[in-house]
Amino acid sequence: MRQITEPARSVDVIHETDVIVVGSGPGGLAAALAAARAGVEVALVERFGCFGGNITAVGVEGFAWYRHEATIEAGGIGREFEDRARDMGAAVPESQSLSYELDSEGFKIVADRLVEEAGIRPMMHRQFVAPVMDGDRVIGIITESKAGREAILGKLVIDATGDADVAHRAGAPTLMTPPEKMMAASVMFHLAGVDKRAFMEGIKADPQTYKDWGGGGEWTIETSGKEDDMFSPFIKKPFDRAIEEGLIPPHLNTIAGTWGAMHDTGELTYMNLIHLDEVDGTDPDSLTRGEIEGRRQAMLAVEALRRFMPGCEGARLRNFGMTIGIRDTRKIDAAYNMTETDVREQGRFEDSIGIYPEFIDGYGILILPTTGRYMQLPYRSMLPQRVKGLLVAGRSTGGDRIAHAATRNMSCCAVVGQGAGVAAALAVKSGRDFAEVDLGAVQAELQRQGVRIH
Ligand SMILES: Cc1cc2nc3c(=O)[nH]c(=O)nc-3n(C[C@H](O)[C@H](O)[C@H](O)COP(=O)(O)OP(=O)(O)OC[C@H]3O[C@@H](n4cnc5c(N)ncnc54)[C@H](O)[C@@H]3O)c2cc1C
Repeated sequence: MRQITEPARSVDVIHETDVIVVGSGPGGLAAALAAARAGVEVALVERFGCFGGNITAVGVEGFAWYRHEATIEAGGIGREFEDRARDMGAAVPESQSLSYELDSEGFKIVADRLVEEAGIRPMMHRQFVAPVMDGDRVIGIITESKAGREAILGKLVIDATGDADVAHRAGAPTLMTPPEKMMAASVMFHLAGVDKRAFMEGIKADPQTYKDWGGGGEWTIETSGKEDDMFSPFIKKPFDRAIEEGLIPPHLNTIAGTWGAMHDTGELTYMNLIHLDEVDGTDPDSLTRGEIEGRRQAMLAVEALRRFMPGCEGARLRNFGMTIGIRDTRKIDAAYNMTETDVREQGRFEDSIGIYPEFIDGYGILILPTTGRYMQLPYRSMLPQRVKGLLVAGRSTGGDRIAHAATRNMSCCAVVGQGAGVAAALAVKSGRDFAEVDLGAVQAELQRQGVRIH
């Protein structure tokens, strides 16, 4: 490929702080809050104009749809997201679980409040583009924005970009699932104008279960058996009918999935129906194709719902997510990479920074935590190799494919993020790096913050 050389230039250092958190999804937001609450200065850097990551930017509202009576989990900031959203009118009861469905728009306000209350320095509209290195140590970041290139320096950095952008650019080894085996990408959308009464009657008249996910193609899944007859807000039949009637081409039998919340105001939100294979979230051309194709398929889905789903006759598109939803990109090759066995067999770790229920969703597996089984999450899965001063939180922590089907979930990212934030704060206070932090003290502070560790 033809190349040009950029001239070297000086960059203004616009801010210096204790901890820089890059990315503000469930992982980054929890990390920033936990670090600030543990008593250090934090800057939260986000490329978009709202905090919340996939919750707000993509429209992923199902934060804890796995929760049933026997579910055992960490509590902490993840639970606080749900409770606070409910209290601020930004969540409604979720249809298949004992949880609240977050309102993707309302959660923008919830996140703003949480950040302000914790005294975090909010730094939106800045995209991380390069690390500032001192040898093999990350000592800050370079961002690009309408203001051009700017430098922010920090004693420690947490990469919560979801794509391990900081770790990758700093030279830490990362791994990526081959595109043909990646989890699908989704263009999410929300509807307005749905007749709630008719819609809910239609759902009650023909309730779908998790077994119905096993309808072939994209939806072939393995369960543990106990999930099969449980209710799932799953929709496929209107799209099968649309294929029969020639409205949707047969190869788009991937259009199917779940609805989130049916609001009294006629909004049917978190429509997770479009599944696009081989979209590489680290390649802007691939993302561009995914956005355009995803929107095309979403409009076919809307038309099929209008014709063949009770209550949807007068429905119209309310909005798409601000950006395509990406499930699967880089993961760090961490000091410890979690394994399929860890998530299926209740992994236990001395360096646990929180627990997560036995909830596996992805790569063709669905296991719900209905029995009280849970795993512990090891601190070392956030520690990148070859690079100092950096921890990676959220969905790009170290682990194999099936481990990620558990750890990618938003509430797990929040547990891990809280662990990262506390570790960063205590490391700064003791003048140590992430690899030498006193894990006993980290666990004690996490417990003080309301996290179940064991
Ligand atoms: C369509 C879809 C449906 C899903 N459904 C569910 C579900 O029902 N339940 C569930 O628990 N999980 C679900 N997931 C998975 C879950 O949303 C993600 O795995 C989770 O949000 C990851 O959290 P995170 O904090 O690591 O990253 P993200 O939520 O992706 O947040 C990363 C943040 O970093 C920012 N960022 C990225 N790069 C940069 C950069 N270079 N500079 C500055 N900022 C940057 C982004 O803008 C974003 O705000 C779904 C995912 C998708 C895509």
